[in-house]
Amino acid sequence: MENRVLEILKETDAFLEGHFLLSSNRHSKQYVQCAKALRFADSAEELMKILKEKLNHLDIDLVVGPAMGGVITSYELGRQLKKESIFSEREDGVVKLRRGFDIKEGSNVIISEDVVTTGKSTLEVKKLIESYGANVLGVACIVDRRASDLDIGIDVFSCIKLNIESFDEANCPLCKENIPVYKPGSRKMK
Ligand SMILES: [Zn+2]
Repeated sequence: MENRVLEILKETDAFLEGHFLLSSNRHSKQYVQCAKALRFADSAEELMKILKEKLNHLDIDLVVGPAMGGVITSYELGRQLKKESIFSEREDGVVKLRRGFDIKEGSNVIISEDVVTTGKSTLEVKKLIESYGANVLGVACIVDRRASDLDIGIDVFSCIKLNIESFDEANCPLCKENIPVYKPGSRKMK
């Protein structure tokens, strides 16, 4: 199944191979942008179907996705689970529910993200959900990009785990080969 996930990510240009300048200023040989896969409803449906199979043992009442990355995943996962799906937003640096969204006390909530890397945004959403007296069952994501030893304190369910190695510019093997570096999201080379 992991092969099919990688195939979808490659077909939709969500997974790229080359020489990239990341937002952390580090360089890498691979780049993942799940939004590219979620451009296509069929791909979103297939990815969330794979993820849903991994959540069978959970009794889920509600799906919460942090905007922007979790909006589409949360919608599609909620649709397949036939459960309510909402999203959180950041306002003045604080993660909140807006638009009249609410979470029932005692309900069981799964967080929905496109990618989990450091777990920082996931844990902010966990805090938000718990402030309503609800239970967080874990986070469900397309790509688990955590370093293998990073425990974020909740269960992480993913379609695929990818270890994307990154380098300081000074130690980047691709820079040493004079391969042009590409900044994802921009239309130009660096
Ligand atoms: Zn480089």
